[in-house]
Amino acid sequence: MITRTDPQQQSAAEYHADYSAVSNSMLSVFRQSRQRYRDRFVTRTMSPPGPTPAMRLGSLLHLRALEPERYVCLDVRDTRCQAPLASGARKGEPCGATSRGQSADGRWLCGAHSKGAPRTEPSS
Ligand SMILES: [Zn+2]
Repeated sequence: MITRTDPQQQSAAEYHADYSAVSNSMLSVFRQSRQRYRDRFVTRTMSPPGPTPAMRLGSLLHLRALEPERYVCLDVRDTRCQAPLASGARKGEPCGATSRGQSADGRWLCGAHSKGAPRTEPSS
């Protein structure tokens, strides 16, 4: 007798390792190559290919919807100070210091460059 875990209760890793039922992806492999299907899903002598950008997006959507406790959204914006330096060897280049907030025009500014400029606190 085969007992299956409710797919809603499985992690993504458990779901993708469960070959007790045939998925659409497995049927696609079967349609392409019977040998590849056997190697991947029956004998498990072939590793699955690395994730494509679409697969990574699908994994993130899966986490967001079904495993929200594991979903972490990283803010990868560059929030270093964007004000140009007024003097020195790097004159004119962006300051690059840790910003204290955004100016009204949306530029990230450090404490020194934000003095006197209207700003908002960074959203964490
Ligand atoms: Zn600065």
